[in-house]
Amino acid sequence: MTLTVRQFPCLSDNYGFIIRDDASGQTACIDTPDAGAVLAALKTESWGLDFILNTHWHPDHAGGNAEIKAATGAMIVGPAEVTRIAPLDRTVADGDTVDLGETRFEVIGCGGHTLGHITYFDDADRIAFVGDTLFAMGCGRVFEGTAEQMWTSLQRLAALPDETTVYCAHEYTASNARFALSVDKDSVVKARTEAVFAARQRGEPTVPTTIGLEKATNPFLRAPLLATAGGRDYEAFGAIRSAKDNFRG
Ligand code: ZN
Ligand code: FE
Repeated sequence: MTLTVRQFPCLSDNYGFIIRDDASGQTACIDTPDAGAVLAALKTESWGLDFILNTHWHPDHAGGNAEIKAATGAMIVGPAEVTRIAPLDRTVADGDTVDLGETRFEVIGCGGHTLGHITYFDDADRIAFVGDTLFAMGCGRVFEGTAEQMWTSLQRLAALPDETTVYCAHEYTASNARFALSVDKDSVVKARTEAVFAARQRGEPTVPTTIGLEKATNPFLRAPLLATAGGRDYEAFGAIRSAKDNFRG
């Protein structure tokens, strides 16, 4: 099994992804941040589009559903919450599977950023599309869920194999790294921060990342280790999340 992934920047700081199961030639896009950019990427590869896979309902993730479906005839798969703003053909939730040719995605419920947010995990290729749940050195804001729910979702992702390639939906890493350095003086965090700044200076993306790298350097996953007071792990996470929400680095 091989999954080809093409990543491209769009909108101000989103990443779009088009993917192909090489065995069958079936294709999908992960979210629809910008219909024009997704259609242009498909044209560059000379690919059609069989599926749209949504991670959550936000407009920079599902806003292009209708236009892309009209242009390609793709079937839209995603969490029920997508219907708040966009068309959806198949509703999926935690524990479901989505097949793209011979590639099988496990749907992992990751509520917190939005209540119905999901991750698509391809175990055979060790690839995860995590939307706005986990970012390189960061995580999504908790808009709809609780800190406890978001922490549980992040722990589910942290439990994936270390070598899992993680495709996040935004290039927020430089800002995340500045915050990480303010709360975590670990030498590995410092080294990664410098690498991130250098990559961004060269105009290079810092996505994808890996589960192993995030476990070592992401302050949200490391929250219990960074906590100054006692308390539960999700409370330590909540404190770090609040600090980032108010961080002006
Ligand atoms: Zn979002
Ligand atoms: Fe987003």
